[in-house]
Amino acid sequence: MRETEKIWMNGELVAWDDARVHVGTHGLHYGSGVFEGIRAYETENGTAVFRLSDHLKRFENSAKLLGMELGYSVEELRGVCHQLIGVNGLPECYLRPIAFYGYGELGVSAVGNPVDVVIMSWPWGAYLGEEGLKKGISAKISSWQRIGPNVIPHVAKATGVYLNSMLAVTEANRAGYQEAILLTAEGYVADGSGENVFVIKDGVIYTPDLSTSILPGITRDTVIQIAQDLGHRVVEKSLIRSDLYLADEAFMCGTAAEVTPLREIDDVTIGVGPVTLELQSAYLDTVRGRSERWAQWLDYAEQPEPTAAEA
Ligand code: PMP
Repeated sequence: MRETEKIWMNGELVAWDDARVHVGTHGLHYGSGVFEGIRAYETENGTAVFRLSDHLKRFENSAKLLGMELGYSVEELRGVCHQLIGVNGLPECYLRPIAFYGYGELGVSAVGNPVDVVIMSWPWGAYLGEEGLKKGISAKISSWQRIGPNVIPHVAKATGVYLNSMLAVTEANRAGYQEAILLTAEGYVADGSGENVFVIKDGVIYTPDLSTSILPGITRDTVIQIAQDLGHRVVEKSLIRSDLYLADEAFMCGTAAEVTPLREIDDVTIGVGPVTLELQSAYLDTVRGRSERWAQWLDYAEQPEPTAAEA
């Protein structure tokens, strides 16, 4: 991880090395936190954060599902993200807001514990590697099942939920695969350890619907809208593992992973196909501000000056 100068912590900018918590922090013991993963890209008009308000709204919803008061509005946190990018001097970075029950009582109940809110930012390249973006990655269907909706609300991007993801991706990595795909207890395809999953069959794009124990991914939503705009048919429905093995194409997507082809799943070769590459390129054009059509998703720290034609 590349260290940067400042971290925003409970309303103040502190030096990277001083952003510390006590070992008695509730969130450390019980995974009682929520977080976000956001990317800012360098564009022709300066640094733009992609769908910043949507990410922060999900952050607020995640906190609500854990009964947690953030104490800052979406608009306030949006300002902090821009401020942090400025002070850390990062034209391109990953932003990690996190809120967790802090130091107070160590009973399991979080009632009465303070809530700490932190935002970090640092440069982070392709999550599944540059080569993964071009040539695709291998994935293994995990022996670990996705957490059901009545176990922990999977709609919350909650820190504790990621123990499930951590077990799955570690198992996959140890077995020589780059990522894991988790199924629900009923056997439906859920998502990757940190990505949503899409398959393409006979020209139609499929992805698990939101009730299938998945995180409502912002990249998933972006890809669906871009794909439909490009004239593709997108169907959100339950998928089973055979749909993965028989796919013409498959890919994973997420803020960190962007659009990464799934080259092989459980040793079944799928390859990298044209629809995936078309969507990948449209996605990268969108986040890098090269697409007029989706300009509304880019949140610039400083709004670009109007061009002579617009003025
Ligand atoms: N599923 C899981 C389990 C994730 O951790 C992520 C990453 N946040 C995603 C899907 C993709 O979400 P997004 O596109 O909003 O980053």
